[in-house]
Amino acid sequence: MYRTAARLGLNGSVRNLGDAGVEIVVQGLAERVEDFIAALREDAPPLAEVEDFVLKEATPNEGESEFRILPSRGGKGKGAGTIPADTAICDSCLADIYDGSSHYHGYWGTSCVDCGPRYTVIIGLPYDRPLTSMDEFPMCERCLQDYGNPMDRRHHAQTVACSQCGPQLSFRPSDREDPVLEAVRALRQGEIVAIKGIGGCHIACDATNESLLDELRERFDRPTKPFALMAKDVEMVRSFAHVSLEEERWLRSIRRPIVILYQKDPCPLPGAIAPGLPNVAVMLPYTGLHHLLFNHLDIPLVMTSANLPGRPMLIDNGEIQKGLAEVVDRFLLHDRRIVARCDDSLMRVAAGGPRFIRRSRGWAPTPLRLSSGAGQDVMALGAEYSNVISFYHQGNCFPSQFLGDIDDVETFAFLRETVDHLLGVTGLEMPRVIACDLHPDFLTTRLAKELASEGGALFQVQHHHAHIASVLGEQEAERAVGIAVDGFGYGEDGSAWGGEILEADRSGYSRAASLSSMRMPGGDRAARYPARMVAGILFGQAKAEEIVSKHVQFPGGEQERRIVFQQMAAGLNTPLTTSAGRFLDGVSALLGICTKRGYEGEPAMRLEGAAWKGRDLRPALSYRKEGNRRVLDVQALFRDILSSLEAGHRIRDLAMTAQMGIANGLGTLALEEAERRSVEAVALSGGVAYNGAISARIRTIVEEAGLKFWCNEMVPCGDGGVAYGQTVVALARAG
Ligand SMILES: [Zn+2]
Ligand SMILES: [Zn+2]
Ligand SMILES: [Zn+2]
Repeated sequence: MYRTAARLGLNGSVRNLGDAGVEIVVQGLAERVEDFIAALREDAPPLAEVEDFVLKEATPNEGESEFRILPSRGGKGKGAGTIPADTAICDSCLADIYDGSSHYHGYWGTSCVDCGPRYTVIIGLPYDRPLTSMDEFPMCERCLQDYGNPMDRRHHAQTVACSQCGPQLSFRPSDREDPVLEAVRALRQGEIVAIKGIGGCHIACDATNESLLDELRERFDRPTKPFALMAKDVEMVRSFAHVSLEEERWLRSIRRPIVILYQKDPCPLPGAIAPGLPNVAVMLPYTGLHHLLFNHLDIPLVMTSANLPGRPMLIDNGEIQKGLAEVVDRFLLHDRRIVARCDDSLMRVAAGGPRFIRRSRGWAPTPLRLSSGAGQDVMALGAEYSNVISFYHQGNCFPSQFLGDIDDVETFAFLRETVDHLLGVTGLEMPRVIACDLHPDFLTTRLAKELASEGGALFQVQHHHAHIASVLGEQEAERAVGIAVDGFGYGEDGSAWGGEILEADRSGYSRAASLSSMRMPGGDRAARYPARMVAGILFGQAKAEEIVSKHVQFPGGEQERRIVFQQMAAGLNTPLTTSAGRFLDGVSALLGICTKRGYEGEPAMRLEGAAWKGRDLRPALSYRKEGNRRVLDVQALFRDILSSLEAGHRIRDLAMTAQMGIANGLGTLALEEAERRSVEAVALSGGVAYNGAISARIRTIVEEAGLKFWCNEMVPCGDGGVAYGQTVVALARAG
């Protein structure tokens, strides 16, 4: 802004108003003022999202002879909407890296006011160098010049550094020449290299080398979970995947998420990248370091997060070297401390919109608008899996980065650190209104109760109500019929819900319909071994045990099968569930697609992969009553699929039939409810909403009936969106 004003010879001032935006006063030739306004509209900084633009005439100030930057108003910047997210290196900085005459030539950590790390290096407010991890690197004279020059794009850029004064790379165990060239040579020779980045560490290797991928899976103990890739540019991505215009836009976005694409058929990459899936998850380089590496590489790299199973990603140099000693051959590290861990964001484009699986690096903690009359601040702690927490302050909801599964000491510690970090970077006090899940055993629920016992107000929100409320929040809507489909959420009756039709508003809901109840023999074990779900779905039907014995194998063989049936007959550790995820798991096992879950959602994701280009056999669906709610009879659907399997139908058609059965059944139940209650919109959310075929089908059913279809676009449909939904509910209830 300063540079534009100076270029146009205008006088005046600019001042940051915190929550209220930015106030700019300019005076000068009318024509130049017009140019200035046009430049503001067109050349806004990459991350500036202009919400509103108000123009007013002011009285000329005769004494004004320059353009000044005035100190921010609003003291500490409490809850300011200005906390930056980390961004990819900008084109100008990239040009500096490659420009032999530039002071920043070849420097891996080159950045400016428009780009570079932010959330991951900021310790607290105000955002100034002493309160970042760059404080350990005093600027050299040359960098100081740029930092102090209002005409330079590095003016007041807190992360400015160069090869003389900034964070340094090292290649280990030995460091003979340029660490980047050493790493390139190692990667080319088929070695596995840990590469420290902005918010964490990646494990990298040549993605075209099949035996190397097998080796990595073995060493990393990750038999099936897909690996994310990094490709040099979009052209390289197109050599192995289909990229639509919208997907290309996301790939190139300055926020640089990992985008889930469809592989080309045939795909030149080894199947070991995403076993059993037709997809491939790719991102483009986002730091100077990545670009320097790809300057010498013509292969895509595996770039998977370096976290040990169930633990948060490694960020400390000592811990990276210790934790990955058995996994990688070499380390490419830098000596800038990562203040806040931040995983790569992960998304796909489905049913006409972006779907976030993780909204993390590049976004966190960019606030989401949340209209509400309530003036109270809220902290929401989310659920358990793939968790995110959030803070709400005066119309803005600040979601944290992706935190992972909060089910052990280390991830719980990460969550507590994140509470402090978010309070630090937003300048907020600990809110007195606290929201959490209904599940009594979640660590997040216990923490919420503990914090609320110190004088706060606690709102426990049913899991699927939170999912649907997250859509209401995004849509600025008050009411909808919700279809909440996922793996598991604690129901009001203590059973495991997950295929629900809720008539919901922001403060409450009623459970109108669902899938019919299935047994889950062994509870959590049934989620890990989907063969158990086949037994659970068929239990009580004619010849159930015989059918199960014929079609699926248990890890513990015949003996385990007998025990499972005895367990169900005795009603021991056999909770009931209406989960769409568990039903799809059962079909996946029945069709022999996936019998053991290697990662969250794997059986259902592989079922979706198997159904790619399959045909719906359109079995008649049946509905019945369970208690006072309507249910889709999933046992009948399952039997239909079973008899088609025995009749020799193709697996891909059966997989598609299962997905369409769920979509058609839930869509029909939602329409009935919408008509009965005169509701005009249907909201879809929950982890199963990532399934492109199911969400597209539900969308069609809803729109053909003349109703509005809503799904999450700003927060994840999965449990990463629960905290936002809890916030919506808590605000409505706290009123
Ligand atoms: Zn830049
Ligand atoms: Zn320097
Ligand atoms: Zn959920």
